[in-house]
Amino acid sequence: MIRDQETLSSLLDTVGRFVRERLVPREQEVAENDRIPDEIVQEMKELGLFGLSIPEEHGGLGLTMEEEALVAFELGHTSPAFRSIMGTNNGIGSQGIIMDGTDEQKERYLPRMATGEIIGSFALTEPDVGSDAGSVKTSAVRDGDEYIINGTKRYITNAPYASVFTLMARTNPDEKGAAGVSAFLVDANTPGISLGKPDKKMGQSGSHTCDVIFEDARVPASALIGGKEGQGFKTAMKVLDRGRLHISAVCVGVAERLIDEALRFATERKQFGKHLSEHQLIQAMLADSKAEAFAGRSMVMEAARKKDNGERVSTEASCCKLFCAEMVGRVADRAVQIHGGAGYISEYPVERFYRDVRLFRLYEGTSQIQQIVIARNMAKELQE
Ligand SMILES: Cc1cc2nc3c(=O)[nH]c(=O)nc-3n(C[C@H](O)[C@H](O)[C@H](O)COP(=O)(O)OP(=O)(O)OC[C@H]3O[C@@H](n4cnc5c(N)ncnc54)[C@H](O)[C@@H]3O)c2cc1C
Repeated sequence: MIRDQETLSSLLDTVGRFVRERLVPREQEVAENDRIPDEIVQEMKELGLFGLSIPEEHGGLGLTMEEEALVAFELGHTSPAFRSIMGTNNGIGSQGIIMDGTDEQKERYLPRMATGEIIGSFALTEPDVGSDAGSVKTSAVRDGDEYIINGTKRYITNAPYASVFTLMARTNPDEKGAAGVSAFLVDANTPGISLGKPDKKMGQSGSHTCDVIFEDARVPASALIGGKEGQGFKTAMKVLDRGRLHISAVCVGVAERLIDEALRFATERKQFGKHLSEHQLIQAMLADSKAEAFAGRSMVMEAARKKDNGERVSTEASCCKLFCAEMVGRVADRAVQIHGGAGYISEYPVERFYRDVRLFRLYEGTSQIQQIVIARNMAKELQE
């Protein structure tokens, strides 16, 4: 749903220019230094990019899913690391509070997340618990007006900068499945919390993950999201539905950028007396990439509109995540191929993007988990 075309067009124009003029020229520097410059983060804050999906009454832009997807397409045109720093505030780090938080929790965190003053992270994965997210082992034991938290969370995006974690922990040890899991808002400066070393990753330099370790960390009972135990898994799944559409839109944007890079290279370089772009086997790779990126864009738009209409989009969100994450992998592979040997050399952006996009098939639910969600929903719908 687009609320006001003029306002949206102006936002998209501003974000598009910011991406092309401020972010793209600094991609290589970010990759080499493994750090996003402070002035760039400051500019992102001033543009409101940390609060895209946070409701207006809490200081954000309150974009609808369709509007957010259109912005995410633009953000995809540069290194995913830039999006990652603001990604958790717009997605997994804030959506639990927006969807299921109490008024007090919303007031306490959302306005500062919207401005980028604080960063929110989402802590679900553990050393022994990944795709099987309902079997979380981190424990939260009630003790008077507090919970005592013990456990380790793994690969937590933006944890080194986070002020607050949306934490999934088991409040009911007798219930081994998802129904025993609750969601908490835990301030990062709580005594008993420590961070592991930043992980050395395959790509997306400039974005950081690490372990978050809880050792007898005490949080007030008011930190329970929505004030109810046993709702954590449901909260996490709702958060991921929205996040999956956002990530899918980013994949489409990255695919479009890679197609631009490949097309430019193919129209500049000549072999056998003519430009690469005039060779039909190269044209086939360009055309397949274009068609697949267009399919991804269309899917995301359709699913986003459905979500804005209040319809359930669990299946569609997983279809988008599955298709778009795999699609951008194929597009990146072809972009490297079209560049020939240059595609393997790091001074060309396609080499970096090839590594960066690999993550999209792994986090916020692997491709196999999307397949499982889709097939499970299909079987459920048959019975309804
Ligand atoms: C850079 C990065 C950032 C991340 N950020 C966050 C974050 O901010 N917060 C957070 O909580 N987590 C985060 N994660 C964790 C991420 O979501 C998990 O890595 C992911 O969900 C997969 O879990 P796993 O690594 O334990 O793999 P596993 O679950 O062990 O899966 C291994 C393989 O088995 C497959 N598999 C698993 N179960 C099945 C099945 N039933 N049927 C078929 N195949 C199956 C998987 O698809 C995969 O191919 C991040 C990870 C990375 C790498």
